[in-house]
Amino acid sequence: MNIELVNTGSELLLGRTLNTHAQWLGRQLADRGCVITRQVTVADTAADIAAAVREALGRADLVITTGGLGPTSDDTTRESIARLLGKTLRPDATVLAQMENYFAARQRVMLDSMKVQALVPEGALVLPNRNGTAPGLAMEAGGKWLIMLPGPPRELKPMFTESVVSLLARIFPVRENYSCCTLRTVGLGESRIADQIAPRLQPLVGQGLVIGYCAHMGQVDVRLEARGEPAPTLIAEAAAEVRAQLGGSVFGEDDDRLEAVVLRLLTERRQTLALAESCTGGLMANQLTNIPGASAVLLSGLVTYANAAKEKFLGVRRETLQTHGAVSEAVAREMAEGARRETGADFAVAVTGIAGPSGGTMDKPVGTVFIALAAASGTVVEKKFNPFDRATFKELTARQALDLLRRTILAAKNPQA
Ligand code: ATP
Repeated sequence: MNIELVNTGSELLLGRTLNTHAQWLGRQLADRGCVITRQVTVADTAADIAAAVREALGRADLVITTGGLGPTSDDTTRESIARLLGKTLRPDATVLAQMENYFAARQRVMLDSMKVQALVPEGALVLPNRNGTAPGLAMEAGGKWLIMLPGPPRELKPMFTESVVSLLARIFPVRENYSCCTLRTVGLGESRIADQIAPRLQPLVGQGLVIGYCAHMGQVDVRLEARGEPAPTLIAEAAAEVRAQLGGSVFGEDDDRLEAVVLRLLTERRQTLALAESCTGGLMANQLTNIPGASAVLLSGLVTYANAAKEKFLGVRRETLQTHGAVSEAVAREMAEGARRETGADFAVAVTGIAGPSGGTMDKPVGTVFIALAAASGTVVEKKFNPFDRATFKELTARQALDLLRRTILAAKNPQA
């Protein structure tokens, strides 16, 4: 099946909004064995949208458009596509009632100009919008299908998951078996992983296994895909081989996130955590508290940026700071031990480093960071070197600290076992 994606929105071409739909929809479809064969971004003018959709319908079995379903003058997708396909737009009473309910529930007035969003091309299916007013639309045109999705990501994503997935399964039943699995790793480079697993997987590649690697911020995803009758067995075998080769570096599968894995491990063990962050500026606390249920685990997250704060809140000794400097193994150790002592947490993680661009020395160049982990079994400190821009430095350091924590939890005895 050929799928083409038409992203509409001048803001995407002007560089004011990153086109996340291309990435997100590409991934969702690929995970279901359907690959987008072509993608185009066009301005939100009726002529541009109509031309792009006409061309795409000339090639593809399915065309998905995003954006331009709202009520303003630059929202022209619905109208230009209806005109292109010679379909009349009619007000839909059910959509109108849903819109009225949506506004009433939020104690907001629905302006007359909003009602354009209740216009539905004749013969189109309506895809409900739980998080906004403009519904999505799906229609058949000359044996092809066209699906229009709204622009806001918080509207598009649930609509795709809740309505489009089942619609696609119905209109394009998958004839071929397709299996895929992504193993998520941390702490190893892409080439090292490839060197280690590729020779072992070679016999399975001969049977149709496809391997892909995707590196991002200290993590590498290994994607395994196969089609046809033996696909599930092939994937299971390949995944077991990758796990055997990479051991504890594999932290999860598919959409698992490192911070969620860490929280899950601690929740299962009924253990608690405290953070003492300097150079990551609260990033770890932010990442962990993005996960529902963090309150069962995270007792405290202090951002002790100044030396005085390290002394006052964590009990780091002035002498240690003066002798070794704030970015040192000794200070990282005292930060973690102080956080654990002050909060009574089972584990405490501390980070202190030089994000740059200034502040580096010969001994401790920009990018130097110490990560400490205090636990009942003692304290370990790891020295890392992350010489990147500040945002990358923080992200990578947070990954490394969470991974140290994950490995330490796994190595320790489970008190609930
Ligand atoms: P609205 O009713 O909000 O106008 P709409 O369906 O008309 O919805 P747009 O006006 O095209 O959608 O876009 C709405 C919001 O969604 C904007 O903030 C826009 O930047 C964002 N958006 C649109 N397309 C994309 C995209 N491809 N990737 C990420 N964000 C997008």
